[in-house]
Amino acid sequence: MKNSIQSIRGVTDILPEQTPIWLWLESVIKQVTHSYGYQQIRLPIIEPLALFERAVGESTDIVSKEMYNFVDKSGEHITLRPEGTSSCARAVIEHNMCYNTTQRLWYQGPMFRYERPQKGRLRQFTQFGVETFGMAGPDIDAELICMAYDIFKVLGVHQHIYLEINSLGTASERQTHRQQLIHYFKQHANQLDQDSLNRLNNNPLRILDSKNPAMQEMINQAPKLIDFIGEESLSHFNKLQYLLDQADINYTINPRLVRGLDYYSKTVFEWITDKLGSQATVCGGGRYDGLIELFSKKELPGSGFAIGIERLLLLIETLGLDDGINNAPDITITCESPQQNAKALLIANNIRHQLPKLQVLTDLSNNKIKRQHSRALKTDSKLIITLNDNDSVGLWYPKNNESLTVTSDLIIITISEYLNLLK
Ligand code: ATP
Ligand code: MG
Repeated sequence: MKNSIQSIRGVTDILPEQTPIWLWLESVIKQVTHSYGYQQIRLPIIEPLALFERAVGESTDIVSKEMYNFVDKSGEHITLRPEGTSSCARAVIEHNMCYNTTQRLWYQGPMFRYERPQKGRLRQFTQFGVETFGMAGPDIDAELICMAYDIFKVLGVHQHIYLEINSLGTASERQTHRQQLIHYFKQHANQLDQDSLNRLNNNPLRILDSKNPAMQEMINQAPKLIDFIGEESLSHFNKLQYLLDQADINYTINPRLVRGLDYYSKTVFEWITDKLGSQATVCGGGRYDGLIELFSKKELPGSGFAIGIERLLLLIETLGLDDGINNAPDITITCESPQQNAKALLIANNIRHQLPKLQVLTDLSNNKIKRQHSRALKTDSKLIITLNDNDSVGLWYPKNNESLTVTSDLIIITISEYLNLLK
């Protein structure tokens, strides 16, 4: 017997019963991004390894542990993208998209990280990301947060997601804090776990992120970045809070919120839920004013966020908000015998052309009519048409169990009247 082949660990199929909820979520994303005037950008899935090494930073978990890298046949070092911000920034520079203008962009697509797969943590997952370029103020940070909130509101999850914000200041402000932080953690080195010891010299800020319960007390006493940031960063942060207050968006300031990537500066934020265990962060984002300089001589401020679609869907499912979202056909045409199949095709096409909004399915299985009916009922079809061998046509509306018999030429008029009534 041949061994069966299964998908790669942490890489999943999205099956037909799951796609309606994906389509719904994607339509909400399109609607909200459109209402904010953001343009979609479609970015490649493979990028040069150097892009992420430079932009995300070699000391980050993503670059040091999680990337899928390979060498192609011409010897180029290539990476399956682990995130979208770096690609988006590359594209903006490569195509000179900010010449005398600003950009508001969004994208959606698969990202790849070699992590330990678990609920809400995959090796191939999907991000919806938004990036803006050329705007340095806290107002655009607030706009981004409002946009994420609007998405959560339309989806109905907004009461189960909490916003945390922080400011990381500028790179030079972080440098002073970093020295103090290393000094503090060295004094408490006996309390640091192995992971934190590894981070001590290359990414001490990330120790603040540790979830290890034994370290919490000590971390809470560590020097706070907010005490080191300068006047300009502080006023940016205060203004952001003012704007969020004006927009009626609740938030908590979390001085330990640092985010996992090197490129952030000033504003950082996360939307967190208490419904998904340790995979609690549904959306992460912030400002990355220094990122563009890593690629070009230009200075160009940027700010954005990314939502993990699978996590957001898990939350939607956990809250039961996916009930009733399916891809039920409006009409299923069943055939008493295979002799009716050709007629089914004709009638189906006729309906599709005259009533193009309807979803019309034909049952060409040649199964017994009872079996066809029970299948149509299972799919929640609004109307079941039966083509009988005696040339009559049965119309059956399962919702109120009404049925009638008509001749073929009356099908369209009857169903359009009926479906209008149903609305
Ligand atoms: P985490 O702390 O959970 O590892 P992260 O800080 O690495 O998240 P980001 O790089 O900020 O995540 O990515 C933005 C969002 O993408 C996350 O908030 C999360 O919703 C989602 N995400 C990140 N990694 C994964 C993954 N491996 N599987 C599924 N979703 C993910
Ligand atoms: Mg991560």
